[in-house]
Formats: sequence, C-alpha cells, structure tokens
Amino acid sequence: MKVGFVGWRGMVGSVLLERMLAEDDFKGLQPVFFTTSNVGGAAPDVGVSCPALEDAYNIDALCAQEVIISCQGGDYTKAVQAKLRATGWNGYWIDAASSLRMSDEAAIVLDPINRGVIDQSLNSGVKDFIGGNCTVSLMLMAVGGLFKEGLVEWGSAMTYQAASGSGAKNMRELIQQMGYLKEAVAEPLANPASSILDIDRQITAALNSDGYPKAQFGYPLAGSLLPFIDTQLANGQSREEWKAQCETNKILASKQDIPLDGICVRVGAMRCHSQGLTLKLNRNVPMDDIEAIIKAATPWSKWIDNHRDASLSALTPAAVTGGLAVPVGRVRKMNMGPEYLSAFTVGDQLLWGAAEPLRRMLAILRS
Ligand code: NAP
Repeated sequence: MKVGFVGWRGMVGSVLLERMLAEDDFKGLQPVFFTTSNVGGAAPDVGVSCPALEDAYNIDALCAQEVIISCQGGDYTKAVQAKLRATGWNGYWIDAASSLRMSDEAAIVLDPINRGVIDQSLNSGVKDFIGGNCTVSLMLMAVGGLFKEGLVEWGSAMTYQAASGSGAKNMRELIQQMGYLKEAVAEPLANPASSILDIDRQITAALNSDGYPKAQFGYPLAGSLLPFIDTQLANGQSREEWKAQCETNKILASKQDIPLDGICVRVGAMRCHSQGLTLKLNRNVPMDDIEAIIKAATPWSKWIDNHRDASLSALTPAAVTGGLAVPVGRVRKMNMGPEYLSAFTVGDQLLWGAAEPLRRMLAILRS
C-alpha cells in the first residue's frame, strides 16, 4: 500500500511514527514522506526504503498515494484536500486536524468506540477519516461504555488540558515559564528562614513581568491557568467546548443528540488531558453495574477505585503519560441524586487523543 505521510515531524506526527515503529506497522508499506519545509531532504528512518522528501503541495505526488495521513494542521488540510478530490483522487484521507471532522463526507475515527460506524462508512464509500478532538476521544475511551449503553441523558466536562494540545513550541514554553519562576526566587527558596510571603510576592511580580516567556500562550500558564481554549463563539462557548457535543454525537452516530457542555481549561501539565465529568444518567444504575460497564468498554478503559491513595497514584498526568491506558476514577453518586455520577479521567492526549486513532484507521484499511 502506498501511504503518504504529511506532518510527520510535528508533535502528533512524531508520536504517530513512534507508535507505528513500535507496532511494526511500516512492514509491507511503501511510505512516502512529504514536507512543507525541506523538499528533497532525507526521509526518516522507518526500516523500509523511502524516497527523498516530497513537496507537500505537489498535487501529482499526493495523488500517487492510496492513503494520505496528515498531521500537518487545519490550514494545510483546507489548502490541499479539496484540490486533491477535485482531480478525482479516490484515495483515503486520514487527518488529525479538525477542519473536515463535521463534514458530511467524513467520519470521525475512534475504533474501540465506533468501529461499527467506521465499517458502515467504509461500506458506503466514505474516504475521509478524521481523528476526533482530544478531550472528546479521551472522554469516550474512559466512559464511552455508559454512552453506548444509552445511559447518559446529559453530561458536563470540566477539562484540565495539557500544554501538548497546543503543539511542540508551547510545551517548550511551559518549561521555560517554570524555569523563569524558579530563577526569580532561587535565593529566598534556598534559605529555609526566608518569608513565604516575600517568595509569593516575587513570584507574582515574575508572573506579571515583561520577561516572563509567553510568546506562544500569550499569558502565564506555569503558576497560573488559562480558562479559554481555541476561538470564541457567539454563544459564549469556546470552540473547544463546542466540539464536545457535536463530535461525541457524531462519533456515536446518536439518533438524538445527547447534550454535553463544560468549561475547557489549559493547565500546566505536559501531555495528558484530565477531565472532571458530571454525567446525568437516565436511571439509577447500581455502582457495580457502572463499574462493570466502564471496565468492559474497551481494553484501555481502566477503573481506579475511588480511594485517596489510588486516585493520587494512578489518576494523574504524571502516572498516565506515555501509556495507552485511560484511567477513570473518583466515580461516585453525587449529592444531587442517584442518577448524577461524578468521574475523573486522565489520558495521554497525544496517543488516544491524537495519533493512535489515525494509526489504527490505517490498520483497518489494510485488514
Ligand atoms: P506541530 O507540532 O506544530 O507540527 C505541525 C508541522 O509544523 C510539522 O509537521 C512541521 O511541518 C512544522 N514544523 C515547523 N517547525 C517545527 C519544529 N521545530 N518541529 C516540528 N515540526 C515543525 O502540530 P501538532 O501539534 O502536531 O498538530 C498537528 C495537527 O493535529 C493540528 O491540526 C492539530 O490541531 C491536530 N491535533 C493536535 C493535537 C495535539 O495534541 N497537538 C491533538 C489532536 C489533533 P514540516 O515538517 O512540513 O516543516
């Protein structure tokens, strides 16, 4: 199979290549790597022979591929995908960007949750398969079982999203911000007798100083948080918040939309997104059944008992990063009534939130 890779050098693309190498996915492929910045350069070493880097805007070279996987971004997708289709190119387009997600011609891929929808789409001739928004995919990997059982009347997700969701440059900036703060108080911090109020005042001054590195985020993230992700919509939601309801229902092919809303917040975590969920169930489901449904949903949905030690050791970005498991914990009935369920979930957004659904879609096409 001839597969073109665009955006393989970025944050999502690098994780995709890493996962494909780990799973020996390049065996039997004829990969062609594309670039927007280094035409003619050497392709990455993926264990099979590859030509030199092709121009990612060369429509003829793209048309020669049976499958194109793009992790390059929405602007690239908008500039190229329609041109390709206009030539009559009939290959499969697999994409991490959001631009085509809600198109009627595209399916959103998260096969442990919606393999049936993917198969139906393939049978009906769909050729565009797009990875979902990271928090949406991670929520469904965690509690998708409850949705699939038809138990969720509505839900609210309060998110704690990592710097990695903004790309490689932002991850670097978060670390620079942390270092800047540490340096600002290095002297009093080293002295146990120094006043904590003085340290706090110096940190506050550093957070608001001109020297604080914030070229990417625009505002302090380390030592603070950012309660708005993506662009603003007329109804007051951020675009990130808007995606929850429309993408979840598209992934699940819901007959009737399940209302979902919340507030999406950027925090100073590196690459794992966390979410505090409130789910209104349509009946009082016993906790044992809830546990069984969550555990059975996918091989990666991991139940964490609602105990302090288990939560603090297994339900954090530090514990989850780099792994495919999506733990769900803090699950309990809320004071509002027995149909109201709380849950907290953490997932590596570069894996199930970005690269892994794309990798698995390619595997489905090859099967
Ligand atoms: P990114 O890290 O900014 O990479 C995108 C492209 O930037 C690369 O393919 C590369 O293209 C170019 N680039 C320029 N300087 C670079 C450098 N120093 N290092 C690496 N690449 C560099 O973007 P991304 O975060 O992977 O996101 C790609 C798409 O996936 C976006 O549409 C995004 O919305 C979507 N997505 C991202 C995430 C996430 O967690 N980040 C999750 C889900 C979906 P050339 O090699 O052609 O120069």
